[in-house]
Amino acid sequence: MLIKKSETGFLPESLEVIGMLVNEAEPENVVLDPLRGEIRDFCRKHVINEHFYGKMGTSILLHVSGDTVKYVYIHGIGKKNEALCENAIRTGAFNVVRLAAKKGCSTIALNVPCAEDKVRSRSIAEGSILGLYKFNKYLAEDKDDTFKEPRELIVLNGNEDGINEGTVLGEAQCYVRDLANEPGNIINPQVLSAKALALADELSLECEIWNEERIRNEKMEAYYSVGRGSANPPRFIRLTYTPKQEFKEHVVFVGKGVTFDSGGLNIKPAEYMLTMKGDKSGACAVLGAIRAASKLKLPVKLSVIIAAAENMPGGNSFRPDDILRARNGKTIEINNTDAEGRLTLADALCYASELNPDKIVDIATLTGACAVALGSSTGGLFTNNDELGEKIIAASKSSGERFWKMPMDDANLRKSIKSSFADLSNCGERYGGAITAAMFLEAFVEKDIPWAHLDIAGIDFIKKPWSYYVEGASGFGMRTLASLLMEL
Ligand SMILES: [Zn+2]
Repeated sequence: MLIKKSETGFLPESLEVIGMLVNEAEPENVVLDPLRGEIRDFCRKHVINEHFYGKMGTSILLHVSGDTVKYVYIHGIGKKNEALCENAIRTGAFNVVRLAAKKGCSTIALNVPCAEDKVRSRSIAEGSILGLYKFNKYLAEDKDDTFKEPRELIVLNGNEDGINEGTVLGEAQCYVRDLANEPGNIINPQVLSAKALALADELSLECEIWNEERIRNEKMEAYYSVGRGSANPPRFIRLTYTPKQEFKEHVVFVGKGVTFDSGGLNIKPAEYMLTMKGDKSGACAVLGAIRAASKLKLPVKLSVIIAAAENMPGGNSFRPDDILRARNGKTIEINNTDAEGRLTLADALCYASELNPDKIVDIATLTGACAVALGSSTGGLFTNNDELGEKIIAASKSSGERFWKMPMDDANLRKSIKSSFADLSNCGERYGGAITAAMFLEAFVEKDIPWAHLDIAGIDFIKKPWSYYVEGASGFGMRTLASLLMEL
């Protein structure tokens, strides 16, 4: 689907679907420009009869019996400048595009207040691209068989740069979803490394991949041990994007890439093992972020690191009570093999620190405790640097992905990852589990490097569709990472 701005600011005459995103007002004052003539009168009548105020998230769909226009979809985005309004815009654009695709319409016009603003046009394009997302490659027959990608979307008074950025970001999120939706029998650590290599080839990125032998020789025993029980050996992946122009910062993103998490010897109960193909979502998010950074030619050097592994029970699995030595020399006593993500991240963070970057951000489906604390639509943010934390919150707001900062200064809670026999224990008590996981990770980051940890457990996989999320992998977090780079 081609997304372009209208040159004239008027509604072209030959479009099948018109999306009107409107601010809240009394029904008789809801702004229905640039509709004209009979269609406008028809819409006004319905807006008044249906008491439509344009409240955030409300909508009406009108079937028009005109010559070319078939549907008008009116979607409220709330009061002018209302917080979360950008997300209502993404949802509105998503709904319009999906409606057109399901009805087999090929041309769409979208009217959004202040579309000339770059950030707003970015949101419009993001929502529109996500409106086309489907993961149906394994279906012999799609029950939505009328779903047809529209040919063209015209954004009235849109901002071209914003549309281009939003298109790149929306497509990157679809790429993240496609990867994360693949099950464990399709994507194991080797396949993930091949996907990373393919991305590097496509975008001319630097790429390094280590096999299990190299990982072991690199003194990454914490990470190496996680993959020991699986027939699919681990792969360590590093991609680097270096901008052609001058750049000020080198940022490292580390993504948790557990391609399937059975829990290991501390095996998960059946209902908790479902959706564990999504335990690689952090890795998928950082791959999406480097894809976006490279396509947008951002002036930031970016390295992404993935310590990919599959956590399985087997004769060679690591065990509870094992004591492992991480790359920075710290020892870890295992008291739960299902707290494996932090072991892979520990060595990845040591390696990231050695690159001596200006910032490190890791993203991981790390703890069920984070989902218990924040629900399944907000991610946890943990940091050793308030300034970086604020930048991430700002990036998360502009991308419509909620993150909430959690405390790292509870000395009493910190005791729960102490061990009598090693420098650290890999799993603290249940209460505060998201925080102790972050405290654990902090021990593997070089102290003077600003670092943040994003816990996206609970939001990585959508069970009931909402907003612009469809069932399956959400791709959550990637746009926050990309927006962070854009704002640096
Ligand atoms: Zn686990």
